[in-house]
Amino acid sequence: MFHSSQSMWFRKAQKWQLEVDVVVIGSGAAGAVAALAAHAGKAKVAVLEKSDRFGGTTAVSGGVVWVPCNKHMADVGIADSFDDALAYVTRLADGRSEPALIRRYLETAPQMIDFVEGATPIAFKALGRYPDYHPEFAGGRPGGRSLDPGLFDTNTLGPWKDKLRRSPVFGMTAMSVSEATDWGVFSKPSALPFGLLAKRFKQGLVCYGGALSGGLLKALLDRGIEPTLGTSAEELLVDDDRVVGVRARQGDKDILIGAKRGVVLASGGFEWNADLCRRFLGGPLTHPNSPPGNDGDGLRMAMSLGADLGNMSEAWWCPSLMVPGEEYDKRPLHRGDFATRSLPHSVIVNKQGHRFVNEAHNYNDLMKAFFAFDPVAYERTNLPAWIVIDQQYLDRYALLTYVPGMPIPEWLIKADSLDELATAIGVDARGLAATVLRFNRFAVEGADPDFRRGESLYDHFYGDPEHKPNPNLGTIEKGPFYAIAVHPGAIGTKGGARTDGDARVLRPDGAPIPGLYAAGNVMAGVTGAGYPGAGATIGAAMTFGYLAGRHAAQRSG
Ligand SMILES: Cc1cc2nc3c(=O)[nH]c(=O)nc-3n(C[C@H](O)[C@H](O)[C@H](O)COP(=O)(O)OP(=O)(O)OC[C@H]3O[C@@H](n4cnc5c(N)ncnc54)[C@H](O)[C@@H]3O)c2cc1C
Repeated sequence: MFHSSQSMWFRKAQKWQLEVDVVVIGSGAAGAVAALAAHAGKAKVAVLEKSDRFGGTTAVSGGVVWVPCNKHMADVGIADSFDDALAYVTRLADGRSEPALIRRYLETAPQMIDFVEGATPIAFKALGRYPDYHPEFAGGRPGGRSLDPGLFDTNTLGPWKDKLRRSPVFGMTAMSVSEATDWGVFSKPSALPFGLLAKRFKQGLVCYGGALSGGLLKALLDRGIEPTLGTSAEELLVDDDRVVGVRARQGDKDILIGAKRGVVLASGGFEWNADLCRRFLGGPLTHPNSPPGNDGDGLRMAMSLGADLGNMSEAWWCPSLMVPGEEYDKRPLHRGDFATRSLPHSVIVNKQGHRFVNEAHNYNDLMKAFFAFDPVAYERTNLPAWIVIDQQYLDRYALLTYVPGMPIPEWLIKADSLDELATAIGVDARGLAATVLRFNRFAVEGADPDFRRGESLYDHFYGDPEHKPNPNLGTIEKGPFYAIAVHPGAIGTKGGARTDGDARVLRPDGAPIPGLYAAGNVMAGVTGAGYPGAGATIGAAMTFGYLAGRHAAQRSG
């Protein structure tokens, strides 16, 4: 029987407007690598992208790719072992992923990197000083597993130059992740080589996720695969239980695209779908950091065909800050906060004025402390929450659009005393005063026995290496004092269709749905609850994209 997943309006006699071997839905890292791998397997490929730009969240990201045992680690003198990586990821997954899938990921990721470097202009560089997110855990590493895609010249894309998605945050500062680290992007923002960055911007160079997506796009174009932008996949079409195509929406018309060998869902997470977030996530996700196209379309399509789901309560959590009025793709821009809370002279407090977490901890695990629940009061104790800083912070460090030397932005809540600041933000003044008094003692002593801020190598990476005695701890004592709200955000969700080691979408009985694959944030994330290191989301997305594309090209599943 030939039918669509939702309706019977589609008849077999109807012609495809386009017929290929493999249809890929989404142009982020997962989709682009799936398309390249399918092409390498001699498949004719179509890439559908809902928005009018190529690259998805991947293109606005840091572009870092986490791959244990990658060959570039030798260049920075760090050794790795499969068993160490396996033990480490398994611990962080916290029982929410499947052992065989974790193995498959770790076995395949280094091969995937070789494949991507062979197929694209990207030459990755190991980031020797970017630690894993729990570097002190057994199997963790002080650096080297995170790979930097470097810079990319958008002029090589020809007419596609302006169709590559640009980050609203890093889009104009072309510095590689290695350079950003060497130049002290967080701790010495005023010392960045602004002249060089302006020159590079004029030249059309991009960095981070722009460089990664740019390199992937170039490889697709070189193979004659022109992504179809402005085309939203709406429905999977099925014949005799096999997925054979997609109904997509282009402007005000439907088009039917046949997929002789398979369809790869690579449509990202569901973080912009408030309804799905409310129904599934383990905490409120009100301020997603990705572009707003990630609405859970792929998840919905997989569910329509009876896919099993996994890891649905998890996200790649990230505390978010906002500059009022800033927008991206006509929606509010929520900026992930990676450093403000890690630098000296800052704390995060709840409405009682209390600290509740190591503020410098990795963004994914940190966010979970915001969801702590008081069963008696029946409320989340740590929401809302505020970052409190003093003038010493603003004299040295950047904050969102502010760089030292600029006028103090109006969106920062400012007060001459901590008492007045507490009143302005609705926080208990006595609680805040006691917290700051205690924290200031820790800052002078260089150790935080309450929450262990500034203890891990990870914390130090986002701190100020020149600040003594601890790169993450500085007193809050010089007025004026300032506050900004911290919101629950995520750089993407990571729950979705359960897959096997070839990225085939599974039914609840464990059998694959023939012809259907999932990779990236639309699949049940292989790292479960955890975030092993910088680039672990894209590393997994590219790995399962590679597996999906390779397998689909064979038409064996
Ligand atoms: C500021 C920021 C920094 C980050 N830095 C890093 C980092 O350095 N390293 C890292 O590993 N991760 C990072 N992340 C997270 C990472 O970017 C994402 O987890 C990852 O890119 C997801 O890849 P993906 O291919 O699954 O989806 P995406 O890159 O989100 O791509 C999905 C695409 O599918 C499209 N789509 C959706 N629905 C449809 C449909 N119905 N039809 C057609 N197309 C559709 C979307 O428009 C989108 O373009 C960062 C994220 C942010 C926001």
